[in-house]
Amino acid sequence: MDAFKTRRDFFGWARGLVAVGGLAAGGVEAAPATSGREPEGEDYYDKLGVTKIINAAGTYTFLTAAVMPPPVRAAVLAAARHPVRLEELQRKAGEYLAEKLHCEAALVSAGAASALTLGTAACMALANPGATHAMPTEMEGMKNEVIVQKAHRYEYDHALRNCGITFVQVETMDDYEKAFTSKTVMTHFFNAAQHGEIGREDWIRVAHAHGVPCFNDAAADVPPISNLWNYTKMGFDLVTFSGGKGIRGPQNAGLLLGRKDLIELAAKNNNPNGDTVGRGMKVAKEQIVGMVAAVDWFLSQTDAGMEAEFRRTADRIAAHVKGIPTLESSIAISPVANHVPHLLLKYDQQRVKISPREVAKTLREGNPPIELNPYTGRNGDQDLPSDENTIVVGVWMLQPGEDVIVGRRLKEVLTKAASA
Ligand SMILES: *Cc1c(COP(=O)(O)O)cnc(C)c1O
Repeated sequence: MDAFKTRRDFFGWARGLVAVGGLAAGGVEAAPATSGREPEGEDYYDKLGVTKIINAAGTYTFLTAAVMPPPVRAAVLAAARHPVRLEELQRKAGEYLAEKLHCEAALVSAGAASALTLGTAACMALANPGATHAMPTEMEGMKNEVIVQKAHRYEYDHALRNCGITFVQVETMDDYEKAFTSKTVMTHFFNAAQHGEIGREDWIRVAHAHGVPCFNDAAADVPPISNLWNYTKMGFDLVTFSGGKGIRGPQNAGLLLGRKDLIELAAKNNNPNGDTVGRGMKVAKEQIVGMVAAVDWFLSQTDAGMEAEFRRTADRIAAHVKGIPTLESSIAISPVANHVPHLLLKYDQQRVKISPREVAKTLREGNPPIELNPYTGRNGDQDLPSDENTIVVGVWMLQPGEDVIVGRRLKEVLTKAASA
C-alpha cells in the first residue's frame, strides 16, 4: 500500500480503524452504513481540467464568489446523506433564520436575484388574486407598477421584470409622492446605490402611507453583521442578501427576509410549486442547509474580528511590495457593498513600467492564477479611491496562506517592471 499522500488521507484511514476497533470490542453500537468513513471525493476540477484560482478580487459572481468555511462545507455534506421532505425543510429553515435574524419570516432562495423575483411575485400576488399562475404574461388588467429611483436602476432589474412588472421611475421626493397609482404593487430600493435623492427612511414612510410594501436589495451589504436585521427593523417589508457573498454560504443560495404574509406568498410562488415563476429557482436540500449553517457561522464572527483579520492579510501582502519605487500602499473600506478592507497599491508608471491592468493580466495568466479586484487600474467610483495607477487587492476571500503567494507574485512583477 502506498504511503498516505496527505494528512487527510491518514485521518480518514485512522477514523475507519477506530470504528472497526469499537465494533470488535463490542462497546459501540454499529454505525449506519453511510456514516463514519466518508470518501474524500475525486477532484473534479482536476478531472475536468478546470483551473483553480486564487481569489484576490472579492465575492464576485463570475469568480464563484465565496468559498464556504469548513463547518458550512461539513453541514452541506451531512445534508447530502439523507432525503427529507422539502416543504418541511424550507419551512423550518425559514423559521430558524427568522428567529436568528430578528425578522417575522424568512425564506432560503436560490440567490439574491431569485429572492428579488420571489419577493416581487409575492407583492404581485398580494395586489392581484390569481397573479401567481398568470405572471409574467397573462396579466390583462392586473396591477403591476413598481416604483424605483432612477439612480437605483441596475442590472438586477430583470429579476423583477420576470414577474411582468413595469417600473415607474422617480428622482425627487415630489415625483415619488405623485408616483403612486391604483396599479402600484411595490417600491424597490437598491441599498448600495450612492446617488439617489431619497433616503431609506423617507422611502419607507411614503410607501407605507400608501399601503405599499417596500423591497430593499442589500445583496452584497454584509458586513456589518447587524445589516442582516437593520433593514427589516427599519421597516422594509422585504430584504434580500446573497448567500454566497459576505455570509459565505453556497453560491446558489440567498435570503429573503421580511413580513410573514409576503414570505408565505413568496413560498407559494417558489419551487416545488409548479406553474409559478419560481419553479426553476430550486434550492436543493444541501444548499438550504448550507445557507442556514453559513448564517450560524457568520453570526459566530464579529465585525471587529473580521476587519482585523482582513487588515492583517492586507498588511502582510503590503509588506512584500514595500520598497518598490514610488509605491504607496493603503487600506480602504467600501462604504456599503463589500464593506471590508481592500489593499490599494498606487505607484508611478513612469518609474515602474507596467500598468495595473497589465499586472492583473500577468497574475491571471501566471501559476497559480491570481484574480485581482476589478477596480485595478480604474476609477473606483464611489466605492474605492482607486484610479489608473492603482492595483486593488480584495483580501477577504483569500484562503489561509494565499496572501504569501499574492505578495510574492506582486513583488516579482513590480520589481521586474521597476528595473526595466
Ligand atoms: C450579487 C447581487 C445580486 C445577485 O445575487 P445572487 O445571490 O448572485 O443572485 C443582486 N443584487 C445585488 C445588488 C448584488 O450585488
